[in-house]
Amino acid sequence: MTSGSETRAVSPTESVLQSVLASAERLRTSPEVVDLLRTSWREVRAQVPVRMDDRSLRIFEGYRVQHNGARGPYKGGVRFHPQADLDEVRALAMLMTYKCALMDLPFGGAKGGVMCDPTHMSEGELNRLTRTYTQHIGMVLGVNRDIPAPDMGTNQQTMAWMMDAYGARYGYTPGIVTGKPVELGGSFGRDQATGRGVAICMREIARREGVATHEVRVAIQGYGNVGSWTARVASEMGFRVVAVSDVKGGVWNREGLDIAALDRWFSVAGSVAGFEPADPITNEQLLELECDYLVPAAIGEVITAENAGRIAARVVVEAANHPVTPEADAILRRRKVLVLPDILANAGGVTVSYFEWTQNIQQFRWPLERVLAELENRMVAVFRELMARSERDGTEPRDAAFDIALERVARAIQLRGFV
Ligand code: NAD
Repeated sequence: MTSGSETRAVSPTESVLQSVLASAERLRTSPEVVDLLRTSWREVRAQVPVRMDDRSLRIFEGYRVQHNGARGPYKGGVRFHPQADLDEVRALAMLMTYKCALMDLPFGGAKGGVMCDPTHMSEGELNRLTRTYTQHIGMVLGVNRDIPAPDMGTNQQTMAWMMDAYGARYGYTPGIVTGKPVELGGSFGRDQATGRGVAICMREIARREGVATHEVRVAIQGYGNVGSWTARVASEMGFRVVAVSDVKGGVWNREGLDIAALDRWFSVAGSVAGFEPADPITNEQLLELECDYLVPAAIGEVITAENAGRIAARVVVEAANHPVTPEADAILRRRKVLVLPDILANAGGVTVSYFEWTQNIQQFRWPLERVLAELENRMVAVFRELMARSERDGTEPRDAAFDIALERVARAIQLRGFV
């Protein structure tokens, strides 16, 4: 599969800025505030030298970008991916500012990344990479300053190494990262939070449309943390998950896939490809498949000007960050495809990260039931607020989301006296 990055008309940062600037125009936001939000507050670029298993030295490049902290400490994931360059990380940090504001979490926006391919690295190499990266950006982190979390190519284990590396220098600090293993102070439910949030949004859309979940055929691109949990929770809710894919390929079955059987297959094969009873499908075909809801849950910029005209789904739920380019967004608007924006659709993860951070600060653990109930409440409340705003103003959900978020960020900037 190719991402839009190879045929990119505008950079990821410019395309996020387009949404922000359009919102600033609608809201008549002060030009000084807008200027402040055009760039990052701070960007750290660090060498990450790693002694590989064959004794050679490889020097990777790592980043931590802090976009805006008016509403609270910086918050955002760390991505290990070959395309995690500075511009991509910068765009994702910007998105986090608006995502946290939309969800009304007391955080600013940040993102980190190391340009590497974790699928071709041993556990020892990843451990050394993570520790060196953490040491080299550690001076800008802190429980009340900047709190990383997992993202593409990183997981609970990565967070455990980050916490340990940070603790070695600054003392035991579980609240320094979220998405940790439960045994180290992680929250119950954090692993499933993003996917569950996506599924809750899908259920709310179905309610608004007045259709039963079993009538809705869903195609999901990506079967990592977000895609697989979306598939599991959506199928529990009764949705018919007809297609899934990962980097190695995909499968589809018009009657619906048996997700429990698919999980068993995945745990042995390491990919959804080859699962039966189902037919093989490519990532490109999955995006254009005859279905009702399309859920891109892998990488960014997969729906572009090139394929947007052929998307057959009537709803696109942005589980991945920034999966739809601005040109594609314009085409989908014209075609009356409902696009639920990433800053709501995948915000379940950062919401439970917030719960994890509060639990760490209080040194008190919530049971799973409480975490899931609080997640449900917040996702549903923000979904309804967003759709009400979109209806009131006659704007698309993405516009309404940025309007709500930018209002909050701009207000905090002014109250804090940044401008
Ligand atoms: P992950 O690494 O667990 O899984 C990524 C999945 O995408 C894998 O199935 C992989 O095979 C697939 N993939 C990778 N490159 C691909 C390609 N070129 N074509 C097709 N499939 C490809 O990552 P994740 O945590 O599930 O994150 C997925 C997306 O969701 C990312 O955009 C991430 O920024 C976003 N997101 C994640 C979280 C979270 O809590 N994990 C929260 C918010 C947003």
